[in-house]
Amino acid sequence: MGKYPAVKSKLSPEILDLLPITDHLSPMTIRDIIIAPDPRLKVKSAPVDEVTDETRTLMDDMLETMYDAPGIGLAAVQIGVPLRIIVIDLAHPEDDEEPAPLFLVNPQIIERSGELRPYDEGCLSLPDFYENVERPNHVILKYQDYDGTHQELEASEMLATCVQHEMDHLEGVLFVDHLSKMKRAMILRKLTKQKRLDEVD
Ligand SMILES: [Zn+2]
Repeated sequence: MGKYPAVKSKLSPEILDLLPITDHLSPMTIRDIIIAPDPRLKVKSAPVDEVTDETRTLMDDMLETMYDAPGIGLAAVQIGVPLRIIVIDLAHPEDDEEPAPLFLVNPQIIERSGELRPYDEGCLSLPDFYENVERPNHVILKYQDYDGTHQELEASEMLATCVQHEMDHLEGVLFVDHLSKMKRAMILRKLTKQKRLDEVD
């Protein structure tokens, strides 16, 4: 998920390109986030058989990519890896809060509350668009953590919204798919136009 309101990263991609040394200092790599509309975002992600060092490298890269964007949630499919992996961090670094990353492998919702929570959602794959989506305010999920250990999590409010937004990505669903056909078409048309402009630049 994107941040709302959108906050621009301090280091622009152009500046990051001028800093090749960061590749040596940090084992993490910032990957390209796929922007909608793109068929790769419609792919249903496959379960992770086993959490290995390779999985952890992917999770590290996802976290770095999400922090750089900046965002609060990212699914692996958004960087072109259709596996059931999500990273989330709802900490507020601007308020000096320590990072609190959450790694969810093979997440499965086992319970949802009937009460709905409306929220103006954004998405790193749909930059600069925010629309109201209503989702259950409370969910309980099963997942595997960074070490592959099976865990259970009760999520409410912002975390519940974010978990469900990211889990939609695993099914190839974007938040605009919850909007009216007209609103979705309008947003995707604008994004298509922006992509064409970016190609010309
Ligand atoms: Zn998203």
